Amino acid sequence: MSFVEAIAAKRDGETLDREQIVTFVRGASDGSLPREQLAAMLMAICCRGMGPEETRWLTEEMLHSGEVWNLAADRPEVVDKHSTGGVGDTVSLILAPLLAAVGVPVAMMAGRGLGHTQGTLDKLDAIPGWDSNRDRSETLDLIDACGAAIVAQTEEVAPADRTLYALRDVTATVPSLPLIVGSIMSKKLALGAGALILDVKWGSGAFRKTVDEARELAAALRQVAIDTGVKAQALITDMNQPLGPALGTACEVREALAVLSSGGDPRLREVSLRLCREAMVLRDWAPAEADAALTRALEDGSAAQAWERMVTAHGGDPDPDVLARPTSTIEVAANRDGFVTSCAGEDLGRVAAEVGAGRRRVNEELAHGAGVLVHARIGDRVENGQPLATLLIGDREANEQELVDRIRGAFAIGDETVKPPTLILGTVDDIAK
Ligand code: URA
Ligand code: CA
Repeated sequence: MSFVEAIAAKRDGETLDREQIVTFVRGASDGSLPREQLAAMLMAICCRGMGPEETRWLTEEMLHSGEVWNLAADRPEVVDKHSTGGVGDTVSLILAPLLAAVGVPVAMMAGRGLGHTQGTLDKLDAIPGWDSNRDRSETLDLIDACGAAIVAQTEEVAPADRTLYALRDVTATVPSLPLIVGSIMSKKLALGAGALILDVKWGSGAFRKTVDEARELAAALRQVAIDTGVKAQALITDMNQPLGPALGTACEVREALAVLSSGGDPRLREVSLRLCREAMVLRDWAPAEADAALTRALEDGSAAQAWERMVTAHGGDPDPDVLARPTSTIEVAANRDGFVTSCAGEDLGRVAAEVGAGRRRVNEELAHGAGVLVHARIGDRVENGQPLATLLIGDREANEQELVDRIRGAFAIGDETVKPPTLILGTVDDIAK
């Protein structure tokens, strides 16, 4: 049967069979289908959707287009964590050592920054000596040495996703639920932890703008995980403003350390602790005991020690004094009295990327001292002249005045206070339709 018939079937809203999905994904990874047919199928899927079984087949075929680590075969107790992406989202750097400290081993494959979000891999590169490029056996060694491995996603993982993602980007088919699920879950399943905790963001700074859209994605991601034998839970959390106060690389590492040392930002701490608890529940902990163990680990110094062990095992220098500092800083102040009514994390994230925490072209060097620190949150009362944020300048040319204006423009200040959006809406089960 020619692939044209498969495209026609999906165009007309029919369900694809496994053979058609195999042909599609193979066509993407080995070039056996022309790009116009791949693009047409992507658009048909985008318009017509896919059922749970089709979505699982798509994910499995994308997974098997590349290297499959299946860590659970050797370390069945390992947990993985995934966030759908946000600003000031320093959680991975906190969650990995914190779970290690309570005896729940973690492995994650991390990526570079994308668009307005800073990537975990880039943040870890701010630590002198840290080496994320590990193969499967080195990753197992890291898990054994320190209980927490954070490694770079390799070129060999889900190559079909790279081809399909690039095509989606230029055919307006990125926001398709089954295509997003296949893309994310093929990479998660390639690492192959036996349990997965998902942080699905909703709001202006997330790529799912409404709670409904986020819940739909969370449910679909979790369903594929469960259907493929992975224990999974998904939390829906707020991304209508930055999560933590630090947007950058070295500054986010410092913020993670502050939380791990029992201080730090309360919002970042709350989301980190809740995700850790849900991960522990997947590992059969009672919620109250999980909470108690996590609080103890923060307070008795064992979380901070787990961080040191993790950094050292990955080749890094755990001394926070070696992290890059900004070469200069500029306070961005409110220009009127009032209440912060909105805070556009996506705009602040873009400023952080531009000043040095992200790349404006492929392979551009980062300026690790650079970024943005956010001081004012939705609902806060501010006075004329009070700092809203600090621009951290690093070793990269920057149009400082323009960046300052963009930071100020990211905050809306009104006369009436507003209630900040609820930080953690709950698990996908808590907020059933
Ligand atoms: N992240 C991914 O890896 N893929 C998507 O399609 C969307 C977000
Ligand atoms: Ca490094």
